[in-house]
Amino acid sequence: MKITIHRGQNQIGGCITEIATATTHILIDLGHNLPNNENKSDSMANKEAVEQLTEKVDAIFYTHYHGDHLNLFNFVPKDVPQYIGSTAKKVTLCKYEILSKAKKTEKFDTKVTQEDVKLLNSFKTFQATQKIKVGDITITPFFVSHSACDAYMFLIKADGKRILHTGDFRQHGYLGKGLIPTIEKYIVNNETVDYLITEGTMLSRPDEKVKTEQEIQQEAAKLLKQSKYVFVLCSSTDIDRLASFYQASKTADRSFLVDGYQKDVLKIFTLTAGKYSECFQFKDVQFFKQGHEKQLAIIKKRGFCMPIRGTKLPLIQDLLKQLPEEETILIYSVWDGYLKEGKNRNEDYFNIWNMFTNREKLHTSGHASCETLAEVCNLVNPSQGIIPIHSEHSDKFKELKIRDELKSRIITESQQNGNVEIEIFK
Ligand SMILES: [Zn+2]
Ligand SMILES: [Zn+2]
Repeated sequence: MKITIHRGQNQIGGCITEIATATTHILIDLGHNLPNNENKSDSMANKEAVEQLTEKVDAIFYTHYHGDHLNLFNFVPKDVPQYIGSTAKKVTLCKYEILSKAKKTEKFDTKVTQEDVKLLNSFKTFQATQKIKVGDITITPFFVSHSACDAYMFLIKADGKRILHTGDFRQHGYLGKGLIPTIEKYIVNNETVDYLITEGTMLSRPDEKVKTEQEIQQEAAKLLKQSKYVFVLCSSTDIDRLASFYQASKTADRSFLVDGYQKDVLKIFTLTAGKYSECFQFKDVQFFKQGHEKQLAIIKKRGFCMPIRGTKLPLIQDLLKQLPEEETILIYSVWDGYLKEGKNRNEDYFNIWNMFTNREKLHTSGHASCETLAEVCNLVNPSQGIIPIHSEHSDKFKELKIRDELKSRIITESQQNGNVEIEIFK
């Protein structure tokens, strides 16, 4: 068997992992590099590069729908089956249908086309614990909590070895309490895991405080009671965060105002995750009609909470003119690094941040804390090795509170380990 980390060993995002036997090749994730101000293009973001990479590939499995795991899918030849969670597919389609109608943006070096939407439509889907056989490899997805809806880790069986690929995950989201029991019940119950391929995003952000999503909700409710008109800059597909603000709006008795796209995404959440938890039922969401005097009068009286995105600048500008400044606030609920000067600065977020006099930061990471990473490494206790990905500091895995014998099994260089070849591109 061969494990190839094509990308992700020394960077956050742009993840591509390959697992191959003599007869079968699969990819886990095929992500676009995260856009930054130094390097807007991605050398893999073209047909030739992806065709070459996928030449022998029998199937591609996506852990979740974030662009740094999915966004090269559109270059994959049609005859290669691509798999994603069924709700994740619905959300991605909703987003790409909107993007295909939008103008080319600076953030991506390609424009979303109707062809991309068609290709997405052809994706195969899976459910948690469903075993999928591709040639002589078996892949089983298990649900994980992340800042995306319907995210998974994969247990892969190939050539008699068991590999756990975590994808992006965390323990402090609404459904994060299932992480350890899932690993105990399905993954380490009576068989050994040979290799653990795990994300390590938070290793380069050790000072970041990890609040639970429940704490975010409570703090949001306080802010919503204090200020009448609340704009929330957050991801349109982060089900947990949207639930936190939606539930906080109910507590503070504010209208929850959204645009058409956000309304469609929330409807998908309500019809899927909402079946299992009341927390994800977005039943009382109002469509915001720009320039509608009657609605404006109503929401001015009751107060509101409005999730916004980087593209919403003109709408916010217009609305701000009609609201008293002292009662209006921006809650910045995405990663702090986007505001800082340098390669990660997001100009849209920065511009929105500067439009407000009153503003608060309220955010928690979508990624596992260092404590959770250590807990997972110790519990999975892989017999052959831990291969870090999705991290700028894979070497720091050694600093986690993990057993000494595990520290000696951290793999960051290419190597031959018995009949398993590991190739790591940097
Ligand atoms: Zn990621
Ligand atoms: Zn992610």
